[in-house]
Amino acid sequence: MTIFSIYVYLSMRVKFWGTRGSIPVPGPTTIRYGGNTTCVEVTGRDGATLIIDAGSGIRPLGASIMKRGKGGPIHVLFTHYHWDHIQGWPFFTPTYLPNSEFVIYGRASSPDELKAIFSDQMRFTYFPVEFKNLPCKFEFIPLKEDGLKIGGLNIQTINNCHPGGALGLRIAEKRHAFVFMTDHEASLTEELPHPYADYVKFASRAQLLIHDSQFTDEELPTHKTWGHSSYQESLRLAIDSGAKRLGLHHHAPERIDYEIDRFVTHCNRILEEERASVDVFGLMEGMEFTL
Ligand SMILES: [Zn+2]
Ligand SMILES: [Zn+2]
Repeated sequence: MTIFSIYVYLSMRVKFWGTRGSIPVPGPTTIRYGGNTTCVEVTGRDGATLIIDAGSGIRPLGASIMKRGKGGPIHVLFTHYHWDHIQGWPFFTPTYLPNSEFVIYGRASSPDELKAIFSDQMRFTYFPVEFKNLPCKFEFIPLKEDGLKIGGLNIQTINNCHPGGALGLRIAEKRHAFVFMTDHEASLTEELPHPYADYVKFASRAQLLIHDSQFTDEELPTHKTWGHSSYQESLRLAIDSGAKRLGLHHHAPERIDYEIDRFVTHCNRILEEERASVDVFGLMEGMEFTL
């Protein structure tokens, strides 16, 4: 075993399979940041696999899991059920294997309500294979604002400001934390489920903060109540919470690669003016981090 592989084995890994918001937009203008919608793979030190959301990025993740092989249950946690966070689910090949097991977590009042969200999506009208005909095993665990543990991963949730609700996540192992805040409208102060200070505390000193950056400050007034933040608001939270790295996520479908580059440049200018230090980048499909 090389030193590198020992290091990887001892660390939490986070890989992004989809970083786009709203709808997949493959094409030459989105080739660097990617066109697939939200899907994240988190692997704990003990090998526990947690998938966050099933946007179209879950299709290539499924292909990768099929190649790698995967023992034990696969945990899938949904921040919420808007199309861009569930649309890849019917194309997630591991669910067609008879011996695979899944534990599904998401906002719901009961396991049956959570199950219904998936069986409704895979009704015959919409897809040729109905959910009830999938050969694998499922367990459904409803979530609310609380904490849970998956293997060695300690997960805290916080209610985001989003139409219909969404959960922000803080995933910690030992002293390292990955905070995932997507589909959150930071500026809708009159409807924020928590005061801003609570979100600052939630993201406090994260090694990796990934935040909804669908809009710019200039675009926000015409997109009020859409449930998304500007990249400047993402940066504000990163500075205030002392996050080490900030990834701009949930890129608007019309956002071309060059514009995201510009947002990162602007963030670095703001940091310089404020004499603050955060490693800011536009989150690209395929990026992988070791925490
Ligand atoms: Zn979304
Ligand atoms: Zn949403």
